[in-house]
Amino acid sequence: MQKNLEQPVANPLNEDYKRERKLSFLENLYLPEIFKGLWYTFKQMFAPTFTMNYPEEKWDPPSIFRGRPVLVEDAGQERCVACGLCARACPPLAISMQASENEDPKERYPEQFEINMLRCIYCGFCEEVCPEEAIVMSKDYDIVFESREDAVYDKNRLLVPKEDLKERLDYLKEYRNNQFGQFWDFQEENNIHSVRDRDRDWNTGLSLVDMLEQQKKNDAAKASNNWSV
Ligand code: SF4
Ligand code: SF4
Repeated sequence: MQKNLEQPVANPLNEDYKRERKLSFLENLYLPEIFKGLWYTFKQMFAPTFTMNYPEEKWDPPSIFRGRPVLVEDAGQERCVACGLCARACPPLAISMQASENEDPKERYPEQFEINMLRCIYCGFCEEVCPEEAIVMSKDYDIVFESREDAVYDKNRLLVPKEDLKERLDYLKEYRNNQFGQFWDFQEENNIHSVRDRDRDWNTGLSLVDMLEQQKKNDAAKASNNWSV
């Protein structure tokens, strides 16, 4: 006989349902089951605890943790040169900035820099593309807003001194730089804001053409996989 698909399926709670287990007399009384549950709860009071009394006790995440993205403040000023790469890479378009220039020495910096934390998905792409190690993922995970406007973090709220981000910066040095190869080996002393100064001081001895060649070689080389260590 052809099955009528329109017909409702058997309700498992219906007493006619054939797979329903028959309860014993004691189970039908419910009391033994209640005491079993209470006994289990009582035993757990003496078991080792894995929970924390948040917010009095706070979890300190490992450096691999991706919390709220922040801007690195280096010697009282932001490392960011407002290149816009992070904003381009950000999948939910959470970052916006307005670039400006200092006069002496001539340097680009972000006059405004905002991250809309309602949009941010903590993917870390901004951190990966930043050529200045100017935006990194922090350990900050308990973020509360009272309004939508409150969720838009401006530059003042984003800037964190590099000393407070040491663990993450060290982590990036160890893993990210190796992953991207020699060309991307970030050296703190090279973190000079203007491209002109960088060319003068970086002193790699490579012309632009050589750099591109080097980059091609790096791209072709098999990346060392630090993630499986
Ligand atoms: S972590 Fe991802 S979503 Fe958040 S600002 Fe960075 S790129 Fe955008
Ligand atoms: S944070 Fe980095 S990627 Fe983003 S604008 Fe600044 S320098 Fe460029």
